[in-house]
Amino acid sequence: MEFQNNLTYARQLDAEDNLAHFRNEFHLIKDKIYLCGNSLGLQPKAARAAVEQEFSDWEKFGVEAHFDGKNPWFYYHQFLTEKTAHLVGARPVEVVVMNNLTTNLHLLMVSFYRPTKSRFKIIMEGGAFPSDQYAMETQVRFHGLNPEETIIELLPREGEHTLRTEDILATIAKHGESLALVMMGGVNYYTGQAFDMERLAAAAHAVGAYAGFDLAHAAGNLDLQLHDWNIDFACWCSYKYLNSGPGGTSGVFIHERNATDITLPRFGGWWGHEESTRFKMLKGFKPTPSAEGWQLSNAQVFPMAIHNASLEIFERAGMHRLRAKSEKLTGYLEFLLQEGNNKNDFEIITPNNKVDRGCQLSLLFKDNGKQIFEKLLRYNILADWREPNVLRMSPVPLYNTFEEMWLTAQAMSQ
Ligand SMILES: *Cc1c(COP(=O)(O)O)cnc(C)c1O
Repeated sequence: MEFQNNLTYARQLDAEDNLAHFRNEFHLIKDKIYLCGNSLGLQPKAARAAVEQEFSDWEKFGVEAHFDGKNPWFYYHQFLTEKTAHLVGARPVEVVVMNNLTTNLHLLMVSFYRPTKSRFKIIMEGGAFPSDQYAMETQVRFHGLNPEETIIELLPREGEHTLRTEDILATIAKHGESLALVMMGGVNYYTGQAFDMERLAAAAHAVGAYAGFDLAHAAGNLDLQLHDWNIDFACWCSYKYLNSGPGGTSGVFIHERNATDITLPRFGGWWGHEESTRFKMLKGFKPTPSAEGWQLSNAQVFPMAIHNASLEIFERAGMHRLRAKSEKLTGYLEFLLQEGNNKNDFEIITPNNKVDRGCQLSLLFKDNGKQIFEKLLRYNILADWREPNVLRMSPVPLYNTFEEMWLTAQAMSQ
């Protein structure tokens, strides 16, 4: 794609953008260019009314809103199922919205990490998001194993910043029959690298291991096809690219072959029990034969109301179309940054090939990164600083514009 570095051209790209109107569906931060959608997405205007609907049913019906409310709470999680399935390329039976991300990661490990004497290792990214590191470390200790001997951390080659698929595949093959699980991010939070989930899952399966993904930075960012890619399980939070508010609820994917297997070990709760007898309060846990069979508790209606309002926007925009715009928007920012007069102060460590990244660009600075981040703040541009020296910028196709990319690059160059 041939881009041009001028404001008229940037505005022309916005004028040609058939998704541009979605920007009006969000509360933009006054006078700011918001590039932190990877951290906390902006508020959909529809979120407030969605929550107020539930306040109003609670006020009017009390407990009876579970069945008599406009959106009966007994079934509330199910109102999100179809949209979630579309979002991540899954069948409805494979997804459920519940809890929070790290909680779900642990619940899924209960089913998919059952180490034996000979098969116990976990492969993960070196420097994974801390919550994932702590979850893996404590799961391993819970089984009485030593994390040092159990968790294999993938590291980039000397002088490189991201992982090569061939190296990940070689590591999987090397550990072979001792490998229980490949547990990776879909997109790395620090470098912005997207992984070839389909190939990694196939390689894990070839040695008899499971493949699971933390999609915190991939859901609502990449055009995921979890069912077809044959992923075993995945989970993600809803407050980053999915714009569902701080501490928002989480999504879970469990491949059909596992989701319908009610013999798979798990931790149970009444909401995972089969729906028809749930309120009979009988002894003996009978899981629902779907991802819903991993639920513990009744639906968190308020965070789910927000999430449902947000998913409705994704449903209309379509992940396929959003991804096409996203590639162009991020490509434009990358082009402009490389034309800037301080382009030698940093290196973009996010892969430059669009299949190997989502919307985020990570700029690694030699020394003056923090000053550049503060300068952007003075120009009312909100990016994200990660110690010790990385500036992350995430243009979001639902609400960022090509003009904002141009203004950001101008500010960088000042
Ligand atoms: C954001 C993020 C989390 C946060 O976990 P919560 O349980 O939602 O607090 C965990 N893992 C990754 C990879 C993340 O990007």
